[in-house]
Order: sequence, then C-alpha cells, then structure tokens
Amino acid sequence: MNKSEVEKLFAVQDLDFRLQAIKRRLAGFDESSGAKAIADELRSLKLALKELNANLDGLVKRRDELEERSRSLMAKVKNIKAKEMSGAISHRDLATTEGEISSLELQRSDLEDQEMEVLTEIEELESPVLEVKARIAEREGELSRLRKENSEITEDLGIQIAELDTLRSELCKSIDPALLKMYTDVYARVGSVALAKVENGSCQGCRLRLSALEIENVKRLLSGEFSRPPTCEQCGRILYM
Ligand SMILES: [Zn+2]
Repeated sequence: MNKSEVEKLFAVQDLDFRLQAIKRRLAGFDESSGAKAIADELRSLKLALKELNANLDGLVKRRDELEERSRSLMAKVKNIKAKEMSGAISHRDLATTEGEISSLELQRSDLEDQEMEVLTEIEELESPVLEVKARIAEREGELSRLRKENSEITEDLGIQIAELDTLRSELCKSIDPALLKMYTDVYARVGSVALAKVENGSCQGCRLRLSALEIENVKRLLSGEFSRPPTCEQCGRILYM
C-alpha cells in the first residue's frame, strides 16, 4: 500500500461522515418532522374517544333498562284499569286497586325522573364526543399530509445514501483490503475519525504532539510502499500528512 491509497481512504472517510449524517437524519426523521408527536397525540385522543364511547354505551343501556321498566309498569296499570272497567273487581276491593294504581304511577314517575337524568348525561357527552372526533379527523389529515411529505424527503435521502454507497464502493476497489480493514476496525473502536491528519505536529484525532522523529517516520513511511500505515501511538488512528 502507498500514500495515494491513504488519500483515497480519506475520501472514503469523508463519505462515511456524510453517510452517517444522512442516516442519523433519516432515523430521527419521524421525531424531528413532528410526525411522532402527532401520532402520540392521536393515540391518546383515540383512547379518550374509546372511554367516552364506553360511558355513552353504559348510559344508553341504563336508559333502555329504565324505559323497559317504565313500560312494564304502564302495562300493569293498563291491566288493572281494564279489570276495573270490566267490573271484575268488587266495589269493596276498588279502594285497594286504586291505591295499587297510584303506587305504580308513582314508581313510573320516579323512573321517568331517572330517565331524564340519564338523557341529560347522554346529551352532555355528545359534544365532547364530537369534539374529540373532529380533532382526530384533523390530526389524521395533518399526519397523512406530513407522512406524504416525509416519504418524499426520506426517499430522497435514500437515493443520496445509495449514490454515496456507490461512490464508496468504487473508491474502495483501489484500496488495499488490509488498509480498509484497519480503517474499519479503528472506526468501530473510536466511533469517529479513524484516519487523522498530522497538523502542526499533532495527531488531529487525539491532539497528541508527535516528536520530530515520529513526524519524520510518518513522512518516510508515506513516501514509499508500506505494509502497515503509520498510526498514532496514543489513539491508534491511521496517520497521514
Ligand atoms: Zn492520536
């Protein structure tokens, strides 16, 4: 391997930085575009709607029960009145029957009061249900608009990644595999720059000052063919100048 391969490797590193930045942007896109916040809001709105609907269902059930009981009381009253009309009830029992009727009527009136209360509760729930539904529809519209916009952007980022990947593969073809592997290993270990310039007598990766002799060694190595590139004694990065 020689200096020109190290220089190409520097171009590879530059591509890797750009790739990393694009991939990071892509990974955080749902959040940074606000889509995640809307999706979260939608989740809680739907939960709220579910609760409201469950309350409403309970109230409707209660109203039906009250109506049913009221109907059955009405039928009883009707029955007794029919008996009275037919003369089946003796004059002596008439007072008792009238008492029974008024007791039934009282119960029915109580049921009607309860039903009115339930109806009011049902009415009171109607507007919050409509509000939550409208908000859900509005946020869903917003989310789908945003997702559409996002998909155009993420598609574009995907194309950029593919283009940079192609460039990278092309560059790598003319770099010694051993040098590439060394670069990959250092990159993985330090998590950033694997190839550091020597500038103003220092490794630009870790800022270690190199002695004049070390700098001479780097220069000497890079001037010819080498089986192992110069590296920084402190951080292990591949050095070039
Ligand atoms: Zn260093």
